[in-house]
Amino acid sequence: AGMSSEYLQIRDLRVQFDGFHAVDGVDLTLMQGDLRFLIGPNGAGKTTIIDAITGLVKSTGSIQKSGVELVGKKVHQIARLGIGRTFQTASVFEELTVLQNLDIAAGAGRSIWTMLRRRPAEIGDDILEVLDTIGLADHRETKAGVLAHGQKQWLEIGMLLVQNASVLLLDEPVAGMSGEEREETGQLLRRIGGERTVVVVEHDMDFMRSFATSVSVLARGKVIAEGSVAQVQANPKVQEVYLGT
Ligand code: ADP
Repeated sequence: AGMSSEYLQIRDLRVQFDGFHAVDGVDLTLMQGDLRFLIGPNGAGKTTIIDAITGLVKSTGSIQKSGVELVGKKVHQIARLGIGRTFQTASVFEELTVLQNLDIAAGAGRSIWTMLRRRPAEIGDDILEVLDTIGLADHRETKAGVLAHGQKQWLEIGMLLVQNASVLLLDEPVAGMSGEEREETGQLLRRIGGERTVVVVEHDMDFMRSFATSVSVLARGKVIAEGSVAQVQANPKVQEVYLGT
């Protein structure tokens, strides 16, 4: 598969909770290197799509990454195929330092004690590079629990980067962030793009506007519009369910 081939192909994806159709026949196609915003009102099914891609909820239909079917696979199998996600509330090891968090993420499978005893000199270049990318080089010895809200989100993204995730699914990464943190997160998203495919679940239209990228709008479990920010904003269906509110 080349750079422009279909990378993440979702067809007729459905998720039901006790007969309620949270995701109701969704098609999404992403190319390698795409940055796609997924927007829609609360309850539209955005997080459930991420849960379905990562195997956290049972789904039907098809989700293929480079032709490999993910539906029916287990969470750890899907993670091993290079699919990583963040949560609305960052899940980092609060008692461990930034470096230790990254080291553990990078070395899943190695003994935690081996990692905790490692000296800085033994920390791999890949981890140091990620520290720079996520803007936490000056905080490598800081306990994750005392990081600012935005920094925790960046650390969580860093943990996906050291695992070499090629598809990143970010659930409202700028929620609760200050203006300055949003700005820095925007720069981070641009830095981690390139060959990686990034899906960002988002509410904030202002944040999206600074990216020349495509948006999929979800409402009641269905994709109701796709296009640039300007295109979806001008779409009456979108205004009705989302932007007009
Ligand atoms: P969004 O992320 O767009 O706000 P969600 O994907 O979180 O929407 O939720 C879609 C719908 O599915 C909502 O009505 C929500 O209440 C419902 N839902 C989500 N997860 C569950 C669950 N585990 N059990 C039952 N209903 C759920």
